[in-house]
Amino acid sequence: MARIPAVDRECCIGCEVCTQICPEVFRMCEDEQHSHAHGHDHKAEVYNPAGAPEAKIEQAMDNCPSACIYWR
Ligand code: SF4
Repeated sequence: MARIPAVDRECCIGCEVCTQICPEVFRMCEDEQHSHAHGHDHKAEVYNPAGAPEAKIEQAMDNCPSACIYWR
């Protein structure tokens, strides 16, 4: 695994597309601390960077409406 995917949380709109395309790598995370400020904080996160082939991760990237998944 040469590259590690990451989600820009500021940019994520919580649409869940990435978790549907690639549930082995992405999951939705409810942030308790931030949910007080915003009422709702439903963001994707990378919990298993090596859980899927790069091509599948790239598919999630390509389908993210906000383009907030990147290689770091
Ligand atoms: S596809 Fe993009 S905007 Fe949608 S939940 Fe995943 S990272 Fe967030």
